[in-house]
Amino acid sequence: MENKIVICMPKAARVIIEKLNKNGHEAYIVGGCVRDAILGKEPDDWDITTSAKPEEVKALFRRTVDTGIQHGTVTVVMKNEETGDLEGYEVTTYRVDGKYEDHRRPTEVTFTASLIEDMKRRDFTINAMAYNDTEGVIDHFDGIGDLERKVIRCVGVPTERFDEDALRILRAVRFSAQLDFVIDEETKSAIRNQAQFLKDISAERIQVELDKLLRSNHPEKMRDAYQMGITKIVLPEFDAMMETEQNHVHHMYSVGEHTIRVMQEVPATRQLRWAALLHDIAKPRTKTSDEKGDHFYGHNQMGVEMAEKILRRLKFDNDTIAKVKRLVLWHDYGMGECPSLRSFRKSLSKMGADLFPEYAHIKRADTLAQSMYLREEKLANLEILKGYYAQILEAQQCLSLKDLAVTGKDLMEHGMQPGKELGEMLSYLLEQVLENPELNEKDTLLEMVKERLNS
Ligand code: ATP
Ligand code: MG
Repeated sequence: MENKIVICMPKAARVIIEKLNKNGHEAYIVGGCVRDAILGKEPDDWDITTSAKPEEVKALFRRTVDTGIQHGTVTVVMKNEETGDLEGYEVTTYRVDGKYEDHRRPTEVTFTASLIEDMKRRDFTINAMAYNDTEGVIDHFDGIGDLERKVIRCVGVPTERFDEDALRILRAVRFSAQLDFVIDEETKSAIRNQAQFLKDISAERIQVELDKLLRSNHPEKMRDAYQMGITKIVLPEFDAMMETEQNHVHHMYSVGEHTIRVMQEVPATRQLRWAALLHDIAKPRTKTSDEKGDHFYGHNQMGVEMAEKILRRLKFDNDTIAKVKRLVLWHDYGMGECPSLRSFRKSLSKMGADLFPEYAHIKRADTLAQSMYLREEKLANLEILKGYYAQILEAQQCLSLKDLAVTGKDLMEHGMQPGKELGEMLSYLLEQVLENPELNEKDTLLEMVKERLNS
């Protein structure tokens, strides 16, 4: 436990700890922030653990919010002296968890006066360290050693810890992906035996951990999640991809291995990593084979349906679902012959120009995760499409009804009645303008309307 690690915490966190100490309470920064600070990473938030009861914490600070008062958490609001911004610090009373049922986090907790009791309830050794300026790092389970060895290891007996809260099984892989750590053998073997308990965990909690895993620097750890039987419970569609071979010149990996490589190649945004994960999700179901090899006709359309189902099941928000569905639908666009500028403009109008930058990321990654066959040509085609896109944007060419130089109102002022016919006229004009952008002038379009009405 002797160590000389010094953590530089924000002034406000120090002020909170000192004030608690002055009033006779123990207090430390704890958990993820201690881990990240020792690793030299800037922590997202600084959590504080204390022997003070929530009421005592509230009495000591001017501004507090009851964030999770039943679990002993009070948010203390402090002003950042440099920026003047208000910042929240979660201050949680030392606690032991109540009885666990169905492998889920308990709803009841009991407060304790002992820091070590609080540390024992935490999931992994690297997350079970506390620190303050007077005592340095408090490390009862050799979290520092595990940080040095790059190991994820349960606090206590792994089987018991996963039995208490099965989400920890997925968290182990999530931390191993964020930190590029291996999972300790005993912990791993418990994961293999107990992965099925994840079925009792709420979709919301699974989503948070899966999302962090996918958006980490090592999304390829999904392979470990598969091998340990985790995805079988939380995302069985992924197992089907891992078990589907692709015998075709364009490919050299199974659908699952290909998917992992696509995830590694796209930026770590939620939409891109989930679109990468799901772009070929329907391949196992659409696979057919003939003398030319395996085919996956219609996998993008069916993929849209499957992606929606999976993301809804995991309780994703509507924006993410809509964007991922569009990317799954369009990921195959631009295969084979390079489209002409005119044909690209029409496709861009259908796709929605806002989608293109993300489409381009997926397309590039998808190509790099295929075989070498025609790779240079595919990448060169993508560059051509990017050039078209820049050109269309630069010229502010019309891509949708809202960019058309006439509106429904204009047409009504020229004698058309509101209704179906007017809608069809606008679509006709858009089609013409997509063919030839120069037509997008008010007078020209009104002339075309007249002609069409008289024909
Ligand atoms: P992140 O940087 O992703 O927030 P974190 O370590 O802070 O990582 P949190 O989920 O914010 O993770 O949890 C904060 C701390 O609470 C953890 O470091 C750990 O000590 C403890 N903890 C969180 N979830 C669990 C759990 N399911 N079982 C046991 N301890 C947990
Ligand atoms: Mg945290």
